[in-house]
Amino acid sequence: MTAPPDDRGQLDFLQHVQRIFDEGEFVATYKFALLIALVELAIERGDDTGAPLDLDLHSIAEKFIEQYWPHAAPYGAAEGAPAVLVQNHGRQAAIVARVAEARGRFGTLARAKSDNSWRVFVGNIAQIVKEMPLWKLQTLRRRNVPFLYEKSSGPRITLLPGVAFNLRRFGALIQLLARSAWVQHIRANPRNAPTVGGATDLELFLFGGARVDLSAARAALQDMQENRCFYCDSAMRQDPHVDHFIPWSRYPRDLAQNFVLAHSACNLDKGDMLTASAHLAKWVARNRESGADLAARLSPAGFLDDQPAALQVARWAYRQAEATSAQLWVSLKYTVNADRRCLEILGG
Ligand SMILES: [Zn+2]
Repeated sequence: MTAPPDDRGQLDFLQHVQRIFDEGEFVATYKFALLIALVELAIERGDDTGAPLDLDLHSIAEKFIEQYWPHAAPYGAAEGAPAVLVQNHGRQAAIVARVAEARGRFGTLARAKSDNSWRVFVGNIAQIVKEMPLWKLQTLRRRNVPFLYEKSSGPRITLLPGVAFNLRRFGALIQLLARSAWVQHIRANPRNAPTVGGATDLELFLFGGARVDLSAARAALQDMQENRCFYCDSAMRQDPHVDHFIPWSRYPRDLAQNFVLAHSACNLDKGDMLTASAHLAKWVARNRESGADLAARLSPAGFLDDQPAALQVARWAYRQAEATSAQLWVSLKYTVNADRRCLEILGG
């Protein structure tokens, strides 16, 4: 039997994470990508029991590709010519080079995923992940400190007991740390100086999702919702907003199943909040009935199709909301306290 880590265990975990940033060496940006990948997989596949979690390298590699996909586009905010940002102190990081190649070939991630070559591509990236960051992430001051997983020779790793719990609990914090260190790493690389200059939108370029064109999502949702606001159900006359149902700030992935269409006023008022149970029930039902259809319409535009992940992420987000007694959004200027009902809707 496993149990969730106690306060002491949680603090130990956080201290170890902090040591990665303080004492780890970052020749490339891979370790940041790995930390974020582990957080996302713990949210999507793990639970809060404290149990160990088995992860295959293939899934970790897919997370790398997703993260580096936007990074592998040419960046050009300063005076210099647009260029792919260098993510290594020596030559360009191999994963970035390969993802840039795939971008050139397929255009969108969804197209790359549906090609026959995808599995081999992911396998190649998995090999690099295995040789580079996987065994180096836990090297602190040249000593191996295996607090996340033990070294293994096979195609999988097992997160140690309590690790998935902690990654879920402190996921937002770890992502924030990893991203800000990642931006710093790229900014500090002298080879990026001509491209980056004094640009202030680097973080947005790397992690903002701002370049994703939501018009395809808007058109499909407008049809599906018969041009009514997902939240207040009245007609949408002006330009409707594509809303991330589980807020982007909590889970920055463009899953097709996570999109709804809403009035700009409803969307802006909801902000970074989760919604109350009635909206949640409607979203769960919408995805059950037409999530696959929605994904089929959105994947050509580059959005990801992952129904199980959408549900798992919602469970995770609402469990956190309950644990912290968060406010849930109902309608303009109206919120309620989180309660069990939302978790019941999500089946646990
Ligand atoms: Zn509305």
